[in-house]
Amino acid sequence: MSFEQLIDWPADLLDRARQRLGAMANITEFMQNGISISTDYSGFNSPREAMHQLRAACKLHRDEVPEVRFTRACDNAKLPQQLLLWSAAHLDKNRSCVFDDIECALSEHAKNYLNALEPPLMDKAPSEEDIAAAHKAYTEMQLWLMRNRSWIFPNKPTGTCLVHRDCECPQPPNLGVGHDGPLRFNWAGTVCHAWSSAGAQLRYAHRSERTHAVWLTKRIVSLERDEEDGFFQECTWNYPVVEKLQYPTQGWCRTVWVKFGPDTLGFPSRRPRVMSFAMSRNKLVWLAPATPAEIQADFEEFFARAVVLDGDSYLAASQELVQNMYTARLAKRHHFNAHEDIACDNRRVLQHALCPGYCQTLKAYQEAYEARHCSLPRPAYIVDLEQSSE
Ligand SMILES: [Zn+2]
Repeated sequence: MSFEQLIDWPADLLDRARQRLGAMANITEFMQNGISISTDYSGFNSPREAMHQLRAACKLHRDEVPEVRFTRACDNAKLPQQLLLWSAAHLDKNRSCVFDDIECALSEHAKNYLNALEPPLMDKAPSEEDIAAAHKAYTEMQLWLMRNRSWIFPNKPTGTCLVHRDCECPQPPNLGVGHDGPLRFNWAGTVCHAWSSAGAQLRYAHRSERTHAVWLTKRIVSLERDEEDGFFQECTWNYPVVEKLQYPTQGWCRTVWVKFGPDTLGFPSRRPRVMSFAMSRNKLVWLAPATPAEIQADFEEFFARAVVLDGDSYLAASQELVQNMYTARLAKRHHFNAHEDIACDNRRVLQHALCPGYCQTLKAYQEAYEARHCSLPRPAYIVDLEQSSE
């Protein structure tokens, strides 16, 4: 990946879509009435940034720019709440809501019932009996929520919105949508501690199972009430997506998923995730490949990039920054050149900035580079002066 491809990634994706037969027409049709987004487990609300990038890329190519509206976010951590409140105030003119607890959508009676079922907090080395009891309690919660879903989610939330503290905002805010309205999606990065290989592997006995059950039941109720058209979900690689999402929602949704991480997309970071999309059977039709293996292969063909970057992706500092660095290094070695005399590519300055041994190593690297790669168009390369070029 070149530096230009790295910073133009959204535009690069749109270019790829243009090369696929019918893909841009499908994307345009999909987004023609805009998209309305709510998020749970919002964190720093990455769907907002993704949509911002997509819209910027559309503008660049004079494609139709989709209308995107954010209606609601929810997170119980204080730092994300600060960012979500800032976004609501400055990007949405306080027309979107921020809640601090997914359970604020539940009636008080339902919350009390879940509290009564809640197993005791487990210590760091729980017994098998404790784990089995917690698993049973959380399974019971999910079943109870599903059986009683028609009345446990009132039209007004029981918690207070952090943006509109003096009012109780409806969930979701009334958009006045009909069949020609925007597509309405929920985005959630559910808690991964239960499944993460770095954690204790409590899985179905982890306390986050309660919130997951509330979140998932709310999605089904929102589909039944025609308040949402589907949802996107993200979790760690080990999350059992068939059992936790596809199976419980199959009466309302078709669910598709892919497994990938930043390294699949060309970024040097290992964070394997499963990303799923559950789409309302009443509203959307899946036109892409059918089986999970085919979907995975198609996704990788479109999105995957090699984790290889040109050297100048790491050398994107401004001329001024480089000059400042040279000035400081030279001053350390008691060379006080005038700041403006220091040109970034001046070999003589570099020789003064380095100790003699490093200068000899650099010369050897330069000779080796010129001998092997002189035909490459990009002159930037990275060497380790503490290691010999041999
Ligand atoms: Zn509100």
